[in-house]
Amino acid sequence: MHNLTQTWQAELAHAITEVQELCQILALDPQVISQLIDPDSPFPLRAPRSFVARMEKGNIQDPLLQQILPLNQELLESSGFCKDPLQEKAANPVPGLLHKYHGRVLLIAAKGCAIHCRYCFRRHFPYEENTPGIAGWQPTLDYITADSSINEVILSGGDPLILKDHYLSHLINQLAEIPHVQTLRIHTRVPIVLPSRITLELIELLTTSRLQPVVVVHSNHPNEIDEPVKKSLLALHHAGVTLLNQFVLLKDINNDAEVLISLCQKLFKAGVLPYYLHLLDPVQGAQHFAVTAEQGQDLIRHMHARLPGYLVPKLVCEIPSANGKTLIS
Ligand SMILES: *Cc1c(COP(=O)(O)O)cnc(C)c1O
Ligand code: SF4
Repeated sequence: MHNLTQTWQAELAHAITEVQELCQILALDPQVISQLIDPDSPFPLRAPRSFVARMEKGNIQDPLLQQILPLNQELLESSGFCKDPLQEKAANPVPGLLHKYHGRVLLIAAKGCAIHCRYCFRRHFPYEENTPGIAGWQPTLDYITADSSINEVILSGGDPLILKDHYLSHLINQLAEIPHVQTLRIHTRVPIVLPSRITLELIELLTTSRLQPVVVVHSNHPNEIDEPVKKSLLALHHAGVTLLNQFVLLKDINNDAEVLISLCQKLFKAGVLPYYLHLLDPVQGAQHFAVTAEQGQDLIRHMHARLPGYLVPKLVCEIPSANGKTLIS
C-alpha cells in the first residue's frame, strides 16, 4: 500500500510503449522481435514498468509478455471473429452505459487502460463516443434513477481505476444518491498491473460511501501476483471490499491446469476468490489465443479434483442475445 498519489500517476504516464525499449529491458533480440510484431497496430504496445519487471528475461514465450506483444498475427482475418463480437452497440441506450442484464448496468467510466491486453474484447470499442466528462454523466444518472430495478452499478471501461480520485469520488457520490442503487462494482486490471494505484485515499473513497463495494480484478497468470500486488489486494480485502477475479482462458498462457490451480491459490492468499473463467470473445485480432470449450471444461474438471469448490471459477462465455453470461457446464 502506498500513500503517494504521485507514484501511480507517474507510473501510469511512464508506461512502456516502445518495442525497442521492451527488448532492451527483457534482453530480447530486437531483430527477432521486429519480424513478429505489427509496428502500426491501432492498439499499440502499452504496459507499466512494474508489470514488465515480472517477466522472465530472454524468454519470448513468457506468459506475461505474450499478453502485451502486438504480433503481426493479429492482422490475419478469421471467420467468426469481428470488431463488436458482443454486439454491445445494441445495448447502449445512452452514451457511456450498457444495460444488458437484469438489475445491473455497466458504465464505460474510462476510455483508457494502464495496459493493452492483446485479447481484449473492447479493443475496437468506440470509446470516444462513450466516455463523458464529469458533467456529462447526467443522462446516465437520469437513466439509472428512472429504473428502480437497477440495484448494482458496474464501473468498467477501459479501466475505471486510471481515473483520478476526485473524478471517481464525484461519480460514486452521485450514484450513492440514487436510493435503489445498493452495490458499486468496479471491473479493473489496475490492482494487478499497477498496484501502487491502491492508495489509502482510494480505499477510503471506495469504502466510505453508502454503497457496498465489490472489486472484480483481472489476472490471468500466477506470475502476475507478486508481493506488491498481494499487499494491495490484501489492503482492499481488510478494508471490507469483496474481491473477485475474472480471467480469460488464453492459449499457451494459461490453458494448463497447474497454472490455473496455482493462480487460484495465490489469489486466495491475497483475499480474492475466483469468479469467471471466460472463453475468449471472438474479437478480430485475437484468434491465436482461442481455446475450445471442451478444453475449458477439461481444465475445470482438473481444478475440481484438486481445489475446494470455492476456488474453482465458473466457465462462461458471452452470447450477445443472452440475458447473462452463459455457463458452460
Ligand atoms: C458481464 C456484464 C455484466 C455483469 O455480469 P455478472 O454476471 O453480474 O458479472 C453486466 N453488464 C454487462 C453489459 C456485462 O457485459
Ligand atoms: S485492462 Fe481490461 S479493458 Fe483494458 S485492455 Fe486489458 S482486458 Fe481490455
